Parts: sequence; structure tokens; C-alpha cells
Amino acid sequence: MAPVKISIIGAGSAVFSMRLVNDLCKTKGLSGSLVSLMDIDEQRLNGVYELAVRYVKELGADLRFEKTTSLETSLHEADFVINTALVGGHAYLDKVREIGERYGYYRGIDAQELNMVTDYCTITNFNQLKFFVDLARMMERICPNAWLLQTANPVFEGTNLISRCSKIKVVGFCHGHHGVIEMAEALNLDERKLDWQVAGFNHAIWLNRFFYDGEDGYELLDRWIEGGNLEGWKPRNPFDVQMSPAAIDMYRFYGMMPIGDTVRNGTWYYNKDFETKKRWYGEPWGGPDSEEGWKWYQKQLKTTTDAIAYLSANRSLKLLSLNTYLKFLPEGTVPKEMMREAEIFSSPDKLSGEQHIPFIDSLVNGNVRRFVINVPNEGYIEGIPDGVFVEVPAVVDKDGWHVERIEPKLSEKVLKFYLWPRMLRMEWALYAIMNGDKSALIEFLMRDPRTNSLEQAEGVIEEILGLEENQKMRLHYEKGMKL
Ligand code: NAD
Repeated sequence: MAPVKISIIGAGSAVFSMRLVNDLCKTKGLSGSLVSLMDIDEQRLNGVYELAVRYVKELGADLRFEKTTSLETSLHEADFVINTALVGGHAYLDKVREIGERYGYYRGIDAQELNMVTDYCTITNFNQLKFFVDLARMMERICPNAWLLQTANPVFEGTNLISRCSKIKVVGFCHGHHGVIEMAEALNLDERKLDWQVAGFNHAIWLNRFFYDGEDGYELLDRWIEGGNLEGWKPRNPFDVQMSPAAIDMYRFYGMMPIGDTVRNGTWYYNKDFETKKRWYGEPWGGPDSEEGWKWYQKQLKTTTDAIAYLSANRSLKLLSLNTYLKFLPEGTVPKEMMREAEIFSSPDKLSGEQHIPFIDSLVNGNVRRFVINVPNEGYIEGIPDGVFVEVPAVVDKDGWHVERIEPKLSEKVLKFYLWPRMLRMEWALYAIMNGDKSALIEFLMRDPRTNSLEQAEGVIEEILGLEENQKMRLHYEKGMKL
């Protein structure tokens, strides 16, 4: 048992904080640890802090919490830093998307070929990417030996940028590989008999290895398709895209199944407009990244934030009985996804499925586990330069990570039609921001099939640079500043 200090940056994050607190409370090996909750939004911070303290008491766990709006204070003596902050929030992303749409860029200028995920902004979210670098550099000064667990998006651009701008140990996290389990459920397979691997980049992973009880799992998938299951397929929610027509179409072309968010990151063929999205990702939402799908997601986020505020204000409510309270409400009042979260939260030992806390436990206490993490390539994926962050399965112990041999290799089509072009877009985005090169931003857009003229690309970039919250971004690009 080794107590550590874990800083959660952007602790008011609707998605992550309570999941991390849940996992920490149930990880005995990290007992006695100090958790520093840091956020610039005091109201959200207070809500999460209040709940965390109460939850620990109810569970009888041995954890201490501090809350702060100062990044410096939070980083002091930190061993692990989990970054979940979204600088400018979803409101900023909505604003730049709306500007992009006025200039003819459906779902905004960051919705690019092979990067269609709505909050994965690579060229407009300067403040977010700059924050990643500032945080890493501040860590070099205050807690140089700490690990940075990069969770806020864009994880692919972010991990690569941080590693090129600082010496801090950074590893990227995502839960997208859970798509393998969703697929197993659809095929009616027992998860324990699966032998699988995924490999690629964040939001760009492919099921290179798939065996079931010694049998070729892809034959089972082919049978599922031939059995007409696709015809009757309907999504249960906008994120339920693992077995969508888009996923199967990608499988047919690439020869391997795209996993998790990779399905959202197809080509224009699936994403051109709302009608097209509906055809490929299912009715009525057209996947999570359409106007309707994202509206649904934002409503979910608000429900979670409201729930945290309500629970923290009503101190007499027992958090471990959350599940029971919710069951008393009329059917349909609480979204299914929230019921699932409440069930985990109400149980004395269930973990959230996020990898951060088990990863820390494996490193600190040597409890060996398998993860899917984003680490610099060291020949793991052939054909990808060393140093570029790849998302791969790895066993983690006290000595760090040990990436599995990727076997069989990714298909040539995955490499040449998917990973290489996606990597180039990352390189372009990093080139632009690291050199403060506005012409690179314009050139980025000139390669977008939605761009019809130079005026269109220049116009949209100027309007985004002109936003009040982008003063630093404008200066950076006008002066050609280096990062
Ligand atoms: P959110 O807006 O609900 O929460 C982000 C928090 O960051 C807010 O509480 C905000 O006050 C805080 N924040 C903003 N600027 C800050 C700063 N300078 N310092 C400290 N805190 C600051 O956002 P969300 O929906 O919870 O998403 C957070 C991030 O996580 C996004 O980038 C999202 O894309 C990403 N995400 C990652 C995964 C993954 O698996 N890796 C999954 C879902 C979401």
C-alpha cells in the first residue's frame, strides 16, 4: 500500500471526476492518498469536492481531498496529474462550430476527414492545446517526476504536442476500446473467451486480433452480417455505433473492424450531411456527431452536472443508496446510461471502467494488469515513425508499460488509407501551432473538400481569430510565435 498525491485538473468535468473518485475509493492499494481537485469553476469544484468527501465517508475509505482553483497549488508534490480540463468549455466549441457552418463547413472546420468527433478540435482549440503545454511545463518546474495522464481531447494531437514541447512523462487515456466488448455482446460471445488486440492511434484503433475460444472471430462476424442482422439494426442511443452500417462498411474496405470512436471517424462518405449520417449511423440521431446526436450528448452532460449539484446540495441523501432512490422515479425520468453509472456508484466494489486509477495502482503497487494506452511508438506498429503516440494494448507493472507484440499486423489498407493520412493531419495541426504559422491553418483548410475558395478558408480563420476569447491565439499566429 503506497499513498500518493493525485491531481485532477478540470475536476468539475461532468464525465470524469466522480468516476475517478469512485475508482479511488475502491482501490485499497491507494489508501491514504491525497487527491487534489483543481478547477477554475468554483461552483463545480465545490459540488464535486462535497460529494467526494461524503462518498469516502460512506464507504469508510481512507482518502484525503483538497480543492483549489490554483494549478500551482494542485501540482505541488503531485505524483500523478490527470488532465480532464476543457478550456472554454463546450460553449466555445459550439461557437466556433457555428462560425464554421456559416462558411459552409458542416459541423465546423475541425470536423475533418478521419476526425469527425465533435469535441476533438485540432486547429480551432488553440487555448486547449496551449493549456496542455503550459501544464506540462509547469509540471517540469513543480513536480518533474510526476506522470501526466492526458484525458482531455484531442488526445492524439495533445500527447504528441506535449511530448515535443516538454520532458514530462505523458500517457494518453481513452475508453474507446470498450467497443470490443460491445461487439462481443452483439455477437452473443462470452467476453472471457475472447483473445483480442487493437492498435492504431487514439480514436483510430482497429481490431487486428480477434479469436473466440480458439476460433477465428472474424468468421463469426461475417456470419452475423450474412445472417441479415445489419438490416434490422437500430442504435439504442447516438453512441451505439459499433455495429452500425458505417462500421461494417469500414470493415469491408479495410479488412479489419474499426473499434469505438474510430467508427465515428470515417470519411465524408458517411458524414457529408445529416441525411448521410442517418443512413450510416442509424435513425433518428445519425450518430453522436450530428446536430441531433450532439444535442442528446449535451443534454446527458447537463443531467450529470445537475445531478452532481443536486446531490451535493442535499446532504442527507445517502450516495450509496443512489440506485434505490432513482428506481422510485417514474420510468423514463432517468436516462439508462445514468442508471448504469448510479449502479456502479452504489455498489461497494464496482469500478467505472476508466483506466486511470487501475493504471496508477499497477505502477505504484505492481498489481499487473492489461490496458489500452497511448504511448510513443517504439516499433510497435510497423510503418509508423517512432515517437508518434500509438494506442496499443500493454501490460503495466512497477517498471512501467510493456506493449504487446501487435500480431497479426494492421492491414496495409489501414496503414495507408487511414493511419498515414490521419497522422499527417496531426502533423499539420502541430506544425501550425508550434510555429504560429497562419498560412498552415489556411493550407489545412485548402485540403478540405468543403473548401471552394481561398476567400472561404481565409474568412473563417479570420473570424475565429477575431473572437474575444481568442486574443492569445490571434497574437500567436499574427506574430508567428513558437510554442
Ligand atoms: P466539461 O466542460 O464538462 O468539464 C471540463 C472542466 O474543465 C470544467 O469543469 C471546467 O471548469 C474545467 N476547466 C476549464 N478550463 C480550465 C482550466 N484552465 N483549468 C482547470 N480547469 C478548467 O467537459 P467534459 O465534457 O467533461 O470533457 C472534458 C474533456 O474530456 C474534453 O476534452 C472531452 O473531449 C474529453 N473526453 C475524453 C474522453 C476520453 O476517454 N479520453 C472521453 C470523454 C470526454
